[in-house]
Amino acid sequence: MVQQEYRYIKRKERLAVYPGSFDPVTNGHIDIIERSLKFIDKLIVSVARHPAKKPLFAFKERVEMLQSVFSGRQEIVVDFFDGLLVDYLKKKGVYLVIRGLRAVSDFDYEFQMVLTNRKLLPGIETVFLTPKEEYLYLSSSAVKEIAKLNGPVEKFVPEIVAKKLKEKFSDPQDY
Ligand code: ADP
Repeated sequence: MVQQEYRYIKRKERLAVYPGSFDPVTNGHIDIIERSLKFIDKLIVSVARHPAKKPLFAFKERVEMLQSVFSGRQEIVVDFFDGLLVDYLKKKGVYLVIRGLRAVSDFDYEFQMVLTNRKLLPGIETVFLTPKEEYLYLSSSAVKEIAKLNGPVEKFVPEIVAKKLKEKFSDPQDY
């Protein structure tokens, strides 16, 4: 079936969606968010309610952490989506997706996702941004691993997230 090209709706504001699991949000994510705001006006940071991997933090907690990190920032909207990203983009009328690209390991997965999304919804564009060098090897999984072993995570995540990680791992029932 030939899909109709998804057309960019001309708006005064340049909008983009940054989708992800954010389990939890790290300084690497924040770096990408701030970079994207150099060329767009408003960013919708959208939490995948059911990510591929089973998350440590419940969907609501992941959303709340982001909301608390970006409270008072008019240009950052925290939202969530269920199901396919392309359906969400269509609903929002946004054609631009922001993703982060770290080491080579991200490439295959991201490349596959861009091409699949383009097949599902032609006209979608994805912009990859690379973080500061110190965040190149930072991931939510690494942060969770460090926190689980009682290591210091304050360098890698905002204070509120470090606190939530401590709470989570202080109660073995919780994970
Ligand atoms: P997903 O499960 O969709 O990959 P993540 O929350 O792990 O969700 O990542 C969301 C996006 O943020 C991805 O594009 C990922 O490559 C990017 N990202 C995650 N951590 C970093 C980081 N330290 N630096 C740059 N980009 C990152």
